[in-house]
Amino acid sequence: MTSHLDATALAEAGPTTEGDAAWQDDVRAGVRHVRDLAELPLSPAERAAVQEAASRHKVRIPKAYLDLIDWKDPADPIRAQVIPSADELVASEGELDDPIGDHDYSPVPRLTHRHADRVLLFPTYQCAVYCRFCFRKESLTAIGRGYTREALEPALAYIAAHPEIREVILTGGDPLSLPDKALAEIRARIEAIAHVRLLRIHTRVPVALPARITPGLVAALQGRLMVTIVTHFNHPREISDAAEAACRSLRQAGFVLLNQTVLLKGVNDSVEVLEELCRELMYRLGTKPYYLHHGDLARGMAHRRTTIAEGQALAEALRARLSGICNPVYVIDLPDGGGKVPLGPCYVEARDGESWRIRGLDGEVRDYTEIAGRR
Ligand code: SF4
Repeated sequence: MTSHLDATALAEAGPTTEGDAAWQDDVRAGVRHVRDLAELPLSPAERAAVQEAASRHKVRIPKAYLDLIDWKDPADPIRAQVIPSADELVASEGELDDPIGDHDYSPVPRLTHRHADRVLLFPTYQCAVYCRFCFRKESLTAIGRGYTREALEPALAYIAAHPEIREVILTGGDPLSLPDKALAEIRARIEAIAHVRLLRIHTRVPVALPARITPGLVAALQGRLMVTIVTHFNHPREISDAAEAACRSLRQAGFVLLNQTVLLKGVNDSVEVLEELCRELMYRLGTKPYYLHHGDLARGMAHRRTTIAEGQALAEALRARLSGICNPVYVIDLPDGGGKVPLGPCYVEARDGESWRIRGLDGEVRDYTEIAGRR
């Protein structure tokens, strides 16, 4: 197996299977190096900051994603997610290199075991696109390596030795930036562990490099395991025709699609934007809005973080406007391994024994008396 495989290396090697040419063109024509940013119509402020910000954290933007940017709008929500800015250079007290404690719960390299029945597995620390807000950006910069068979052996042995593990979550890095052959190999190795029931894949590829969802990639993921693909759309403008086609391919292959959105100030912190996003995810992509994440304490990201109160107000407004199937759960991923905790909305106003005061979606508070079976 070639060392440290990823989409950029593959694009340079040329097409290997049917459909590879389109996404490889997207990689080659996009931003792959800091110097490529000079070709973009950046503002003077971006131009001044880009060199330093981009040298601290990786840059990569496929052409398909660059093409979604409205360059006339300095506050464009697509641009804000991928173009380095001076604000990233300002770290605030309390921000963390490892905001959710991945490393504290890592018994072997490339694996995090925080909850008994599931593990995170990191086959690669490379991505098809590098997002400026990423909570793992310090790990992506510090570790940075792609997939090798050898690097994953201790993690696979750990999973095999822990029968309580039922779900394996491929994350990273972006697992779908790996070649089909590597994905098929990883899937087969996990599948051979009898107690594993579900394979989850966290990816931004359907958003940023949708042409990468080829028949070869889909085939590489099909086997015994239930497969759930967790996409990462943050704004309705990311839902392109190509993204729709990518999600259709994944859905038609029988994979369950869920979406996680990160709440980002200046990108999607409005009820209208989130409402449209959630509806289009469900109605157009068939991707269930799963979590709306409060911004993690990643270093240099204060300018993109809302307050929790702002997030709660948005979550409550969404609850009133959207059907249950379109509604994500607003969560905070607590530092030190506290896990994902829902932040509301909460509709219970008061309780006295079996008598409850509960606020309805119309804002009116009603009495509710419990009548439950007694032993
Ligand atoms: S694709 Fe995911 S892991 Fe990679 S930089 Fe973006 S948010 Fe982080």
